[in-house]
Amino acid sequence: MTKNRETGTHRVLILGAGYAGMAAAIQLAARGRRREDVQVTLVNAQERFTERLRLHMSATGQRVAELSIPELLEGTGARFVRGWVTAVDAGAKLVRIDDDRVLHYDTLVYGLGSVADTAAVPGVEDHAYTLNSAQDAELLADRLARLARLGRGTVVVGGSGLTGVESAAEIAEQHPELDVVLLGRQEPGAAMSPKPRAYLQAALARLGVRVLSGVEVVKVLPDAVELAGGELVAADAVLWTSGTRVSPLAAAAGLTVDERGRVVTDATLRSVSHPDVYAVGDAAAIRQGYGVMHGTCQGGMPTGVHAAVSIVRALDGRRPKPFRFGYYHTPVSLGRHDAVVQFTRPDDSPRRVYLTGRMAARYKETVTASPWPTYGRMKKMPASGAFWPRGGRFTRGVR
Ligand SMILES: Cc1cc2nc3c(=O)[nH]c(=O)nc-3n(C[C@H](O)[C@H](O)[C@H](O)COP(=O)(O)OP(=O)(O)OC[C@H]3O[C@@H](n4cnc5c(N)ncnc54)[C@H](O)[C@@H]3O)c2cc1C
Repeated sequence: MTKNRETGTHRVLILGAGYAGMAAAIQLAARGRRREDVQVTLVNAQERFTERLRLHMSATGQRVAELSIPELLEGTGARFVRGWVTAVDAGAKLVRIDDDRVLHYDTLVYGLGSVADTAAVPGVEDHAYTLNSAQDAELLADRLARLARLGRGTVVVGGSGLTGVESAAEIAEQHPELDVVLLGRQEPGAAMSPKPRAYLQAALARLGVRVLSGVEVVKVLPDAVELAGGELVAADAVLWTSGTRVSPLAAAAGLTVDERGRVVTDATLRSVSHPDVYAVGDAAAIRQGYGVMHGTCQGGMPTGVHAAVSIVRALDGRRPKPFRFGYYHTPVSLGRHDAVVQFTRPDDSPRRVYLTGRMAARYKETVTASPWPTYGRMKKMPASGAFWPRGGRFTRGVR
């Protein structure tokens, strides 16, 4: 593998310190600590780690832990650069930060994640709140607190996927004085088997969430959302959770991307067009035996670990191994005291087994809290991060 001529080191640049990029950085730093030939740099928009799994909690004014990325990296030898990535030049192997700084790399790990798709429906960009960042969640928290002080208001949650369900439940529980409407094409919990789906829907009803499914939002207005057919649903605040969108930087850099802009990878997680670029997490289109993986934390962290292990193998002149991952659960919070956990087959189809109620809420909290301590453990024992379900026959012999 190439090394920088002046320093004799191989420069690995990781873009994005989300669940996947963070896993890649810690793994690489831990595995490369005793070697002089690897230099790891992690770039992220903020110094504070954003626990996306808790953004619906932040959006309802609940305090979440302050997790410092530079502090976690202390002692690993990895460098942290705070800044916004504005361009990737895959030919010159450099990245621009805030337009004015340049970082060179020998290997790039691209992990810029995804956000809700605010461009698909007119008015969303102008009038809707999102959970795209901690700052966005705080803006919504302020709005909800103001409505709560008035003692009334209607909050419309657009998108009945799992983020929409968790958000609607959380808002209804934390702000019982507000009316919460959950709108979407599918019924909530559509991908679950009948019993957990029924439980989830009953929990939403118990929390007072009004569900309108089978509907299409065509426009978001300052005080309402418009449905196909012209019906208006009045709203004092709209939270948009529908669809996902990735950064346009990979496509602009000439990397091969799929129809959603995600970096298409080979079996070892390298870009199919630029083998010195690995793609991880939501920003990557990773094919498994059952299809292309969809963005989750449960799958994102393993991609980061695998990319790191592959880079170290390649540095040592060994061939990277194919990445294999099988899903195992879909945990969904329904406020702070209730949840549903649907256990799944490796292809994410539902099994018959599920958990509900307080036990499920404890399970969900354990899952949500686990990434940060996992990174801490990986610093000392990198191999501890390498355990995840490989998917058995569902992923065997891919490609
Ligand atoms: C409310 C909510 C609940 C969820 N619950 C679950 C769950 O229970 N289970 C589950 O598996 N998944 C869940 N998800 C999905 C999960 O959060 C994502 O799949 C996961 O965060 C993807 O990790 P990632 O590392 O790819 O990206 P992210 O976690 O999105 O991290 C990307 C990082 O890159 C940074 N970044 C982006 N662009 C730039 C740029 N240009 N310059 C600098 N930095 C940049 C971002 O600031 C961020 O730090 C949930 C999502 C939400 C919103």
